[in-house]
Amino acid sequence: MTEQLYYDLHLHSCLSPCGDNDMTPSNIAGMAALKGLDVIALTDHNSCRNCPALLRAAAHFGLVALPGMELCTMEEVHVLCLFANLNDALDFDAAVYSHILPIDNDEALFGQQLYYDENDAVCGTEPRLLISATDIPFADVFDFAARYHGLMIPAHIDKSSTSLLSNLGFVPPGSQFSCFELQRMKNLHRVRRDNPYLEHCTVICDSDAHYLEHIHEPEHTLLCAERTPEAVLAALTSAP
Ligand SMILES: [Zn+2]
Ligand SMILES: [Zn+2]
Repeated sequence: MTEQLYYDLHLHSCLSPCGDNDMTPSNIAGMAALKGLDVIALTDHNSCRNCPALLRAAAHFGLVALPGMELCTMEEVHVLCLFANLNDALDFDAAVYSHILPIDNDEALFGQQLYYDENDAVCGTEPRLLISATDIPFADVFDFAARYHGLMIPAHIDKSSTSLLSNLGFVPPGSQFSCFELQRMKNLHRVRRDNPYLEHCTVICDSDAHYLEHIHEPEHTLLCAERTPEAVLAALTSAP
């Protein structure tokens, strides 16, 4: 028994300095449910630390939720890393943290980086600037995420900055990823025509929302065997 699930797998909470402070885990889950989505993922810059709160809120609203991160590589390529299991995501988070450039966040310049607990209350702030690059090369991300049973998805590859195609210019030989993300589905033909590697990958289209109102309406679906994070990851790696 398979079903089409409406998804938005690229969302930022108030832990991302550029994320609106109304993007609390509970507000995100509530808005996603209101819009009629089935599956969401929280992908803050270089951090999974608001995922425990998001997963709890999502369960309250009956959503499937995946813990995730938008990792910034040393080439400043943004890559989504998604997990089925929260502990795997938090272990990955701890491993990534030591690779973030040691720059302090300037709240006046970049915004606050707020941690939320499972009761949707602020429980701390992150001192290190999360939007800076890590020292992890793009070529290492697949194996790094896989060590924690995570799936890498090059983010918004049709974007003119911080993307695989804008910053590297091509899909590197030896790449292993099997799913990529677009900002606009209308760019699919162009990116596949220019990069034959992508013909064999699954494509997703997410909002990259930093504000509640930018979370996607139910428009993009994934064919999943069941309503579980594991089935969503499996759908993301099945042939297009
Ligand atoms: Zn990004
Ligand atoms: Zn993003």
